[in-house]
Amino acid sequence: MRICKSFIGGEWVAPPATGTSPVFNPALGEIIAEVPLAGAELVDHAAQAASAAFPAWRDTPAVDRAGILFRYKALIEAEFESIALTISTEHGKTPGEARGDLRRGIQMVEYACGAPSLLMGESLENIARGIDCDAIRQPLGVCAGIVPFNFPAMVPLWMFPLSLACGNTFILKPSEKVPLTATRLAELLDAAGLPKGVFNVVHGGRACVDALLVHPAVRAISFVGSTSVARHVFDTGTRHGKRVQAAGGAKNFILIMPDATVAESVRGLAEAAFGCAGERCMSGSTAIAIGRARDLVIPDLVSAAKHIRVGAAFRDASAEMGPVITRQHRDRVESLIDAGEREGARVAADGRSVRVEGAPNGFYVGPTILDGVAPDATVMREEIFGPVLSVLHMDDLDSAIETANRSAYGNGAAIFTSSGRAAREFRHRINAGMVGVNVAVPAPMAFFPFSGWNESFFGDLHVQGREGIAFYTQQKITTSRWFAAGEGDVWVK
Ligand code: NAD
Repeated sequence: MRICKSFIGGEWVAPPATGTSPVFNPALGEIIAEVPLAGAELVDHAAQAASAAFPAWRDTPAVDRAGILFRYKALIEAEFESIALTISTEHGKTPGEARGDLRRGIQMVEYACGAPSLLMGESLENIARGIDCDAIRQPLGVCAGIVPFNFPAMVPLWMFPLSLACGNTFILKPSEKVPLTATRLAELLDAAGLPKGVFNVVHGGRACVDALLVHPAVRAISFVGSTSVARHVFDTGTRHGKRVQAAGGAKNFILIMPDATVAESVRGLAEAAFGCAGERCMSGSTAIAIGRARDLVIPDLVSAAKHIRVGAAFRDASAEMGPVITRQHRDRVESLIDAGEREGARVAADGRSVRVEGAPNGFYVGPTILDGVAPDATVMREEIFGPVLSVLHMDDLDSAIETANRSAYGNGAAIFTSSGRAAREFRHRINAGMVGVNVAVPAPMAFFPFSGWNESFFGDLHVQGREGIAFYTQQKITTSRWFAAGEGDVWVK
């Protein structure tokens, strides 16, 4: 059985004796590795290594730091297909989804390669006569990243390339459910020539996270995961004096206007609800069909859902949707479908009974549509994080926006319409940070912030783009004046 190792100070470290957790191939329900669960001692070891590496890395010119990231990108590209297969095997994504996960991550590496330009400061000559002022950006020190299971490559790559490009050292705590992709990404960063201790990986669960949150050497924490843990990370981290960005869960609404293009709306809804088996923080988990959009779109959507081929995607190229991450998660998703049905929704497409040939123990739920969900139903409050679309029916845009705005979350929202006025009204009033107009999954690319609102984000500066640069740096403002020889001598007695 493969045992994952942590990576500290440039060495692969044998697991501590604090227990292990199984890593599954969810398509088969089989254990493929064990991941050690580190405690405070290993975290301290990593923090010391990252602290020791910081002074030299901070003083390495940005152009040389970027040079290592250029090499890193080339190494990932060379291994692209094998990393995508690792993602598919430990997570369950289809090969296309796994490639998309990695491609989005590589785009973050490319963005970070622009560090010399991105880090440039500002200056103003003569803020007063003969006095100049300038602002430069300097790194913080040791930063840490704590990531979820659902994008094994992209979410870690949201964090460490940019943080390293800014001159920080880094400790990554991968998801214990998908540690193999993170391990491969660390091996390649090492191969790219990163100095020892600049990047470290510590595997673990809650105890490991809690040790990072209070460690005095850690200056900043990037977190992505569920809302309850995001709140805990934000509260504990900030209480211990750290800068924290913590992205949480989501419940994203897609509004379908009666004038929407039917085929594109159906395609968009199916992709948003069932892509990556619904395990995306930007998945469109709730649709509101306005007026006659219900009759135009829902029958085709139900038919599309029933035709999606569920399978063991890591070995079956014809599979269009893979499993969910664990048996427990599958049971939770199914129990939420039960709750939706109990509370009056019609199960128009039912994924509870799906079976995959040759994979009887895989963690599968098929595409499911709960039609006619009430605005106060359980499935409207809970993030399901599976291939389940709740459909509500409303008479007008106003009531749909008001319903969506009652959600505690605020990650993404989208509208399908051919009316510029409706789209403008939606964009103006919707209470979410990432908006799509005829785009069902409006996830921003590397150079824009991934800007969740409300309970989908705790902090001020989001990952990606210039907000990412701001998060991983602190500004230093210098005000300077220079004297000519002898100037001011009149004051000297
Ligand atoms: P999770 O919150 O269970 O785990 C995230 C990380 O926190 C993992 O590394 C885990 O080891 C750690 N963790 C778990 N419980 C903890 C605890 N009690 N104390 C300290 N640390 C703990 O999330 P997950 O199930 O891995 O991922 C799915 C969630 O992530 C969903 O809610 C999804 O919406 C969210 N997500 C959000 C975004 C975003 O940008 N907003 C992106 C991707 C995923």
